[in-house]
Amino acid sequence: MTVRPILVWFRRDLRLADHAALAAAVATAAPVLAVFVLDDTAAGRWRMGGAARWWLHHSLRAHGEAISAVGGRFVLRRGHSADELARLAQETGASAVYCSRGYEPWASVLEREVRERLGADGVEVKRFAGALLHDPDGLVTKAGTPFRMFTPFWRSFAGGVTVARPIAAPRKIVSPQRVPESEDLASWALLPTAPDWAGGLRDAWTAGETAAHARLASFVEERLSAYGRMRDRPDREGTSRLSPHLAFGEISPRQCWWAAKDAAGRASEGDGIETFLKELAWREFSAHLLHHAPDLPDAPFRAEFASFPWREDGVLLRAWQRGTTGYPIVDAGMRELWATGFMHNRVRMIVASFLTKHLLQPWRTGEAWFWDTLVDADLASNAANWQWVAGSGADAAPYFRIFNPIRQGETFDPEGAYVRRWVPELARLPSGAIHAPWEAPADTLAQAGVEIGRTYPGPIVDHGAARKIALGAFATLRG
Ligand code: FAD
Repeated sequence: MTVRPILVWFRRDLRLADHAALAAAVATAAPVLAVFVLDDTAAGRWRMGGAARWWLHHSLRAHGEAISAVGGRFVLRRGHSADELARLAQETGASAVYCSRGYEPWASVLEREVRERLGADGVEVKRFAGALLHDPDGLVTKAGTPFRMFTPFWRSFAGGVTVARPIAAPRKIVSPQRVPESEDLASWALLPTAPDWAGGLRDAWTAGETAAHARLASFVEERLSAYGRMRDRPDREGTSRLSPHLAFGEISPRQCWWAAKDAAGRASEGDGIETFLKELAWREFSAHLLHHAPDLPDAPFRAEFASFPWREDGVLLRAWQRGTTGYPIVDAGMRELWATGFMHNRVRMIVASFLTKHLLQPWRTGEAWFWDTLVDADLASNAANWQWVAGSGADAAPYFRIFNPIRQGETFDPEGAYVRRWVPELARLPSGAIHAPWEAPADTLAQAGVEIGRTYPGPIVDHGAARKIALGAFATLRG
């Protein structure tokens, strides 16, 4: 009697190691077929953005190669997930579909739909944990409610919540005898062609599980120890840059957590390891928030912000998107994002504060731009962080704390190296002038070849005046 195969349905979990669904499928000794469905309808308006689609292409290619290397096959289909999985189950005679549980609100709806649809055909659907450090329903306050504040959430990790050790990748995958046809990845047109804007992304990134582990290993070896001191410096390579790998599940948060923990005992500068674990916990906190508040990407967490007097202005928004606000640290960040699909966390906070406070644009417009342009676009982290900066989020930065983009630049990019890299028209300015070029003496500007208003824009708003207007807008919420 032939054993019916199991389909392993991959989504944003494109890895072989620490993949509970794959490990469980292989452990049954049934043949296993890896499948991926490009479903552009399930996520609604949170359909994958342009930069993420670029990443997905490369990640799928790498994943297919990794599966082949252990004897497996990877079948790609495009369409509605439930329809395609039902079709694949029928074509292969599969007895079950195993998958990792997703935590986006639409992912849970989709999983339910798939379970009902395949269940009707007698195909079992099993979900496994793996995207997070901990099950969000099992990590709550003493009162049994979801955490709304990060500090007690983090304390629960320090005080006994255990993170399971990652599990190994299967050494061999036995494929079914009948493997249905796969669509051709290239035909999905995930890569931009007209125009091809992905040159900077190609230079900056290598997608895939192997690249993710190489990045984690070099980070732990070279930068983890000084992470606490260096993580806020966009002019240095002080952070891990693991976020797109995590966003596509090429590496699991548990693997990152334990790699850092296991490095303890080696020479460490103070709190590097703990600070890194805490950042992984911020990712986790965001995911738990979204799990318990599914409208986090669309509505203010703090209800009073629903009446905030945002000013929707396309001209201001475009200047921000293009990096032509006249504030060098903001423009550098926005141009880094456009060129590489990434922006340093400190600069993300600066540009988000600038958009929502100096320009009074709704946080959702910034959230949408990030969604389309970030290779690490993640529904929970993006929404939670935008709301955190805008002041409307759980445990948010107080609205009245308005970043001064000049001081922020001077503090975190003291020699101006980050600005010089991304705003080359200011490259010849001395460090003391680079974060507020409009205030520089005429001869300094002339020597650097800078003409404000011609080679580089003047500030789009005056910092002091914009700050007052923003505080006035905030006061209407309490008034
Ligand atoms: P590291 O400093 O090396 O940190 C390690 C990991 O911890 C990161 O890879 C990430 O998974 C997690 N992490 C670190 N900081 C945060 C944070 N503040 N919130 C949640 N997780 C964090 N991160 C995303 O992954 N996707 C997003 O769409 C996203 N949107 C953001 C939007 C705004 C407005 C802001 C201020 C931050 C956003 N972040 C987002 C969080 C953060 O900027 C990135 O995770 C971080 O810059 C990634 O770089 P890294 O991997 O080098 O981080």
